[in-house]
Amino acid sequence: MNSPARPQVNGENVHAPLASSTRPHVVREITEAKMNELIRSLGLEGWQIVWEPDPSQTKRGQISPEARVILVHDSETNDAIRTVLHEVLELKLRPAFNMQTSLTNALLEWANTEVYKAKERAIEDLLDLIVDLVKRSDEVTSIIGEAR
Ligand SMILES: [Zn+2]
Repeated sequence: MNSPARPQVNGENVHAPLASSTRPHVVREITEAKMNELIRSLGLEGWQIVWEPDPSQTKRGQISPEARVILVHDSETNDAIRTVLHEVLELKLRPAFNMQTSLTNALLEWANTEVYKAKERAIEDLLDLIVDLVKRSDEVTSIIGEAR
């Protein structure tokens, strides 16, 4: 039996080489199908779980919004399901965090503009003082010159 077509992530097939025995592969495929049922029951339509156990990965799960794929790297079934649930929450909370990021960016932009305006005003005030000092030093120099 051929395994179903797997989604491509970043142009590369994310499907790692299979273990020598086909049994873990079959167990994994069945569990992956159950994970996909689970996320659909949690309201994630159009998303797909790809369970690719990979202990060398630092991240346990990855979300690929373009491919609408949740990649799970855990080796143990219970860990993998926990990661699936973690990523589901991640996706559900994403709009709220995007809002917070927009707000933070808007605030930073406003603050940067205010700092820029204050700096420009300070430079102009200092310039007035410096120009005044230079003028006075000319006056002093000419007074000294006339006195000689
Ligand atoms: Zn996370």
